[in-house]
Amino acid sequence: MVDEDKEIKTEYAPKGMFPADDEEDSYEIDIDEDLDVWNRGGGYTWGGGTSWWQRSYGGSSMTGMWSTSVYTQDNHAGRMLKNKGHIDSLCKVVDPTVAHTLEFATRHGSGHTDMNRGHIVVDGSLIRLNDNKLDTLAGLAIHEKLHVIHSMPLMTWQREVRPELCKSVGQQELFHSVANIVEDEYIERQLHKTCAGYVHYIEACKEHYFAKSEIDVNQETSEFGDLINTFLMLVRYPSKIDMDRRKRHAPHIRILMSAIKSGIDSREDTKTCIKLVYKYLVAQADKMAKDSGEDTESVMEGLKKKSVDYATDRIEESFGMEGDPDCDIDSKMRKEMIDSLAGDRFRAYKSKYDSDMRESSSVDKVWDEAHKRMIEKLADFSTDFDTISKDLDKKIKDMADSDYYETDIGKLLESKDTNQVDCCKICRKGKACGNSCIRKTYTCSKPPGCACNAN
Ligand SMILES: [Zn+2]
Repeated sequence: MVDEDKEIKTEYAPKGMFPADDEEDSYEIDIDEDLDVWNRGGGYTWGGGTSWWQRSYGGSSMTGMWSTSVYTQDNHAGRMLKNKGHIDSLCKVVDPTVAHTLEFATRHGSGHTDMNRGHIVVDGSLIRLNDNKLDTLAGLAIHEKLHVIHSMPLMTWQREVRPELCKSVGQQELFHSVANIVEDEYIERQLHKTCAGYVHYIEACKEHYFAKSEIDVNQETSEFGDLINTFLMLVRYPSKIDMDRRKRHAPHIRILMSAIKSGIDSREDTKTCIKLVYKYLVAQADKMAKDSGEDTESVMEGLKKKSVDYATDRIEESFGMEGDPDCDIDSKMRKEMIDSLAGDRFRAYKSKYDSDMRESSSVDKVWDEAHKRMIEKLADFSTDFDTISKDLDKKIKDMADSDYYETDIGKLLESKDTNQVDCCKICRKGKACGNSCIRKTYTCSKPPGCACNAN
């Protein structure tokens, strides 16, 4: 959380006072400089930190608000079903006019949210054993609901402009990732406008996926991947940008900050911002490829050698080594055959190389697959995206269909007295024991659960 009193005011020497320093100064980024271009405050979440609603409902997380029952080992399905109902309701409140369905990811089921159908898929394994990550899961679901509400126009726009902007597969993937990163921040900002009370779920989600992520320490990352990391952090979690990165990427950070500054003020602004950042990154890829790339001449030399080696091997295989007494062909003939075979081979290699060059861009060359996948996942909160077993999923769904699930979610949301409505079963003839009713004469040996006595 940001301590507002400690805001640092930096004074700069007027330009021209130390002329030798001026040029370098503009590239330097101090460790104290706040890189959050939007001043979002705590947890880098819109409306997060010390806003009015947090003071009035201090500490009201889902875990605190709803989980009053103790669950036994074998009743995780019941607990998860209940949580799923709560989260589903939260998503409804975010925008009741936009329909959605909610599902926990299973290995063989659909792994991702389908915006067209309004079908939200989240990582239920986060609460597989206990409710500690319930706020994170709620944040995840709300984030997906925000996509369902807001992101269709951006997807349509992406499809429209892609052919003109992207010349290769790598460029398409880069464009997609930049759009995702900017869009995530845009939709979360919309929540703060309409449903400020839910912002702390997003905060929990960001904390879970970004604060502890190791994108900043992975040594394997390529130069280009590293630059994308800086962009991702700048938009989503600036405190991850350490001193080393501030130094390494100072000019990039300056330019990217100015590109995103008003980049999520409106839908039109997101489009402009995405294009700007994408084009900037493509230009950087071009530079990096040029610096590290081989020149065409040496590539051609390599292909020629490869062709001759290939032809020599083939001829030796068929007619024996040169100088071999059993050899059927003389040296002159051998040379002609090798030349001819190598010539054909070279033309084939060259034509493949040319077509590869036409279809690929610098982005394809400098951006590795592993990093692409990492960004794709992190840009949609699914670094640790896990699934629940088919069996558990079935249990939860069966329970939902049975009369086990009696909690009135609507009432629950309105009610302040959670104990009153937290009952999964009301026992009239018998008495409450754990999550079910037993005969009044029996002795209950289960820990307190969600069943209640009628009186
Ligand atoms: Zn997202």
